[in-house]
Amino acid sequence: MTRSQELFEKAQTLIPGGVNSPVRACRSVSCDPLFIARASGSKLVTEDGQELIDYVMSWGPMLLGHNHPDVAAAIAATAQGGTSFGAPCRLEVELAQAVVDAVPGIDMVRMVSSGTEATMSALRLARGYTGRNGVIKFHGGYHGHADAFLASAGSGVATQSIPGTPGVPQDVVKHTLLAHYNDLDAVKTLFANHGHDIAAVIVEPVAGNMGMVLPKPGFLEGLRELTRAYGALLIFDEVITGFRVAFGGAQQAFGIDPDLTCLGKIIGGGLPVGAYGGKREIMSHIAPSGTVYQAGTLSGNPLAMAAGLATLKALASRDYAALAVRTEAFSRELENILHSKGVPVTRNHIASIFTLFFTETPVTDFPSAQTADSGLFVSYYQQMRAQGIYLAPSGYECAFTSFAHSDEDLERTLDAAKRVRF
Ligand SMILES: *Cc1c(COP(=O)(O)O)cnc(C)c1O
Repeated sequence: MTRSQELFEKAQTLIPGGVNSPVRACRSVSCDPLFIARASGSKLVTEDGQELIDYVMSWGPMLLGHNHPDVAAAIAATAQGGTSFGAPCRLEVELAQAVVDAVPGIDMVRMVSSGTEATMSALRLARGYTGRNGVIKFHGGYHGHADAFLASAGSGVATQSIPGTPGVPQDVVKHTLLAHYNDLDAVKTLFANHGHDIAAVIVEPVAGNMGMVLPKPGFLEGLRELTRAYGALLIFDEVITGFRVAFGGAQQAFGIDPDLTCLGKIIGGGLPVGAYGGKREIMSHIAPSGTVYQAGTLSGNPLAMAAGLATLKALASRDYAALAVRTEAFSRELENILHSKGVPVTRNHIASIFTLFFTETPVTDFPSAQTADSGLFVSYYQQMRAQGIYLAPSGYECAFTSFAHSDEDLERTLDAAKRVRF
């Protein structure tokens, strides 16, 4: 038995499914999870001492690579002065300034401790601000695990094929209206029929939880126009795309001005942080300046702020365009290698994110993502992992590169792919 297997056996007696977040259990790829002892740069090291080239990157946060020296030093130095004050601290102001400077649509920002809290709070604010209840989300879109968003969700909800959402009252999700990603006409129809009660449209500007799916030209623009026309808010869930698709997020890359933006993952530099921000006039409705309540004992935690600040400072001078070019070439080569083995592959790519879907069908929404052959994915995943390449254990996830991935890492990954047999 490996150390990972021993730990997993013990974990299953103590933690539901042995994990603290479902997809980590690796069930859909018929594997046991690997327990990670430490990480540095592009690599993970398991409890058994196996080194892995990582394309999960903690599901997105580690764009600088694991254990980046500036981030580690900022956390260590800040910890010397205490770990939580429950009172304002300078680092909160500094990170807020960094976020406002970076993200075009954010004039004011509130820190929370996860992406789930960010989206949940942004929706509450949108509802409080507009006095309406309805929210439009997209099939296969994932916005954390708050009740309102657990209707036809992506990420683990899609991976585990959990059909409904036990524990979520029908009364709550009845306000959640669904459309297919990239289907602007469907959104138009929803507004035509329910426009007076729609508080917000929430969307991942580049979808990242049904695999990576790009917005079609005009889709995001259309959402912006429709929400304006009906007095609803446009919420960009940039928990994955923020500071990744561009330093200023997908809104900067696509030139769209959302009312509210949700952030997470990268903004915490590997510590638990989320944030939501937007127009000053809307954000002023949050308590204590307004009446929409939202709070957090550890919100603005000094260690988390220090990690986020160090991450954003380092990212500000990184060459995003160069990483996008390298990721494009790498993912294209990977696609060609798989294609040459006679399996169907569709590749979606932007910046340092890509997904290879095992299907001939162009993937533009959740139904087309679901045409991918899960058996081929399982086989690919298992053979890559056996060769030290750590991919997300689900066909509905992204592969992430980072500024720490070397040319040698990418070459070794391509060599591993060449040895995969279907
Ligand atoms: C990960 C994710 C969330 C939830 O963030 P947590 O920190 O896991 O709560 C929300 N939205 C998107 C787009 C995400 O990818």
